[in-house]
Amino acid sequence: MLDLTSAGSAPRLPGLLSPVLSWLHGLDAQEARALPSFDRRRLLLLRLGGALMLVNALPWGLFFWAHRLPLASAVDALVCLAALSVLGMARLRLLRVASLLLLLSCLLSVIVQALMADVPTPGLPRTLQLFLLPLAVLATFLLQNEGRGLRAGLPILILSAFALLVTTSTARFGFSPLMSDEQRHLGGIVNGVATSIMIFLCLRVMLNEARESSALERDFAHAVAAGELEVYLQPQCSSDGHIVGAEALMRWRHPQRGYISPAEFIPMAEQSGLIVPAGEFVLKQVCSALERWTGDPALEGIAVAVNVSAAQLFAATPAHQLSDLVPGSLGRSGRIKFELTESIFVNDFSAVRELMEGLRGQGIRISLDDFGTGFSSLSYLKKLPLDQLKIDQAFVRDLPEDERSGKIALTIVQLGKDLGFEVVAEGVEKAAQVEALLAMGCGIFQGFLYSRPVPLAEFERLAADVHAGRLSLMPRAAQVA
Ligand code: C2E
Ligand code: CA
Ligand code: CA
Repeated sequence: MLDLTSAGSAPRLPGLLSPVLSWLHGLDAQEARALPSFDRRRLLLLRLGGALMLVNALPWGLFFWAHRLPLASAVDALVCLAALSVLGMARLRLLRVASLLLLLSCLLSVIVQALMADVPTPGLPRTLQLFLLPLAVLATFLLQNEGRGLRAGLPILILSAFALLVTTSTARFGFSPLMSDEQRHLGGIVNGVATSIMIFLCLRVMLNEARESSALERDFAHAVAAGELEVYLQPQCSSDGHIVGAEALMRWRHPQRGYISPAEFIPMAEQSGLIVPAGEFVLKQVCSALERWTGDPALEGIAVAVNVSAAQLFAATPAHQLSDLVPGSLGRSGRIKFELTESIFVNDFSAVRELMEGLRGQGIRISLDDFGTGFSSLSYLKKLPLDQLKIDQAFVRDLPEDERSGKIALTIVQLGKDLGFEVVAEGVEKAAQVEALLAMGCGIFQGFLYSRPVPLAEFERLAADVHAGRLSLMPRAAQVA
């Protein structure tokens, strides 16, 4: 059966429909794999919704213009513009803004069309408001991860507009029917069929999403239990090209889908609690690698950072306390770091501080990841036992051209240094970024410019080659600086 809603690459379809559906998906195979399934489905619905909005608003705008209703045709012109913006935003992957724009402009467009063109008569009720039903279903799907106000508020608003249009006749406000009852009767049939199809498609998308995420969770649980996860390491380099540290990153190769992006499985693992055993696996792998490296001149100076989410830090059972997994001698050597993000501070602040102090007491160093993107209250920096700040990729990406990114990065470097923290820049892809960051006083760099995250064994070979001088990770511009 034709499955418009399946995720991943565009579904295989007979002849003519295939190009249409590949356009709707708008993803190449690599991006389809990297994008979380919810985002892939949002993208599909946004492109479909944007295209339908355009196809619908254009003739209505012309219709209102022909009937000398400039206000209504101006509204439809705006809706056409909004539809083009939705398609453009979907292309730029601005999915959240595009979703809001799509929902609000569809709501406006249906209300205007229903009030002005579908004036009920004693013999024939209004039908255009039917489009608000699939719109409410769409809003429920697209806004499922928003705050409660938006998540519940917009679908309720749409359904209230539906109820109002069912019960209100605009004839008494002086609107006269623009179409004969015969034309409206035919329109009513089209509206009924079209909205039924739309509701069916939206429900299929929602059902497939629910099915896929529970299948993903089941497969991930199996992978964790079977020890099928992998740990990759990405080097962190000093300005002279030495590897001074590494970040451990979890990888999961799905038996059918291949490698799945952490952007997809980490949030699922956090929601389901599977991040606790999965994180334990990563930490154990890192600890045994660090123990193996002891005495190896190429490797023993390298500290490894492990990402730790709130669920891991606050693991309910003492058996799952992360800190207990780090052998005392390893902790004391200062070669292990926990990377926490600012989102951890939505929890009880004094509990977080206590936990962090406990870790510090064991010798585990603490790095604040993605600094500047979350709940950056400067008072946290003053009160928390931290060792390192990581400048988020968002502020590194547009260096050195973007003046604002430069100012923010400089502020973070200065702040970190003044407070006695190490500062690491991540997402470094260009030599010019290294030059700019070096000039600011940042001394440690992580990014594709130096190396992509690589499997443990490959990292060990890489570090040995760098140590023996067989390989240089120093970007050319940095050598000049
Ligand atoms: P993160 O902690 O911010 O990790 C850095 C991410 O940036 C990694 O993505 C890395 O591959 C990517 N990256 C490194 N250098 C560059 C670069 O030059 N350019 C670009 N564009 N990206 C770069 P990855 O591996 O996909 O991980 C995504 C996120 O998943 C991580 O973000 C982290 O929040 C989470 N994660 C990964 N492994 C673990 C884990 O073991 N435990 C937990 N709790 N979270 C993890
Ligand atoms: Ca990290
Ligand atoms: Ca980060």
